[in-house]
Amino acid sequence: MTGRCVNNDGADTSIGRLLCHDCEQRLQDHLARIGEEITPLLLIATKQASVNMQGGDGHAAPAEAPSPLRDDMWELYCQTERLMRQLAVRFDYQRAADPDTTVAALTRAALADPDPLLSCGDVLGWYEDIVDLSEGIHIAVNPAKPRIAFGACPGCGGVVWGDPDEQDGECAGCGERVNRRAVADRLLARLIVSEVRGTPAELSDECAKAGIRIPASTIRSWTSRGRLRCDADGMLNLSELVPLLRRRANYGIQERPS
Ligand SMILES: [Zn+2]
Ligand SMILES: [Zn+2]
Repeated sequence: MTGRCVNNDGADTSIGRLLCHDCEQRLQDHLARIGEEITPLLLIATKQASVNMQGGDGHAAPAEAPSPLRDDMWELYCQTERLMRQLAVRFDYQRAADPDTTVAALTRAALADPDPLLSCGDVLGWYEDIVDLSEGIHIAVNPAKPRIAFGACPGCGGVVWGDPDEQDGECAGCGERVNRRAVADRLLARLIVSEVRGTPAELSDECAKAGIRIPASTIRSWTSRGRLRCDADGMLNLSELVPLLRRRANYGIQERPS
């Protein structure tokens, strides 16, 4: 008999199953991820690894003796191990009762023969517990990285924030996804038609208004190295800065500035 997925997503189930195909796949993906991340979690819980990879040089002298376990991580590990052993005993996986069988081995056993789990009457309960633990573990071993400001949004002028390793950021003003290169390029396109002239400090201010950080000292050094021409009165054209800024923006992303 087919019916609707017990996970309430409105999808149909196959004969003899309570979860739809997508939910079954998700359950198996979460089991696989628990298998991959349980060892990193255990290392963090027992403080053999740090999620930030900091303080590993052995020189820092802690003011107090640290607790040998990180309690929240250890608790998460124990909950996962308990659930996976219950699952293994219930569905009679190989070496289920052996205390030396690791959690990773139990997830592999569950994935090797998922049918008993997927066709049991309380599959939704297992699904919810497994997804909860998997998500807790994933956050514990992959803490969010601090985001950086890429620059001003060409659309609304808001700040575009992004992951330091990513090409796309998100504008805090309009919510638009903006490529970090586009932040610089579109702003530079606006500057190139500008007829503003000024001293290095004035041009630096003008760039700042457009969302590009360029210190006056850098502009001065470009002038003294002959890369930028100033008029007899010591004034510079903003539009002439653009090729240098573009080169600098590109260096900033992929290469080191020379
Ligand atoms: Zn479903
Ligand atoms: Zn915006």
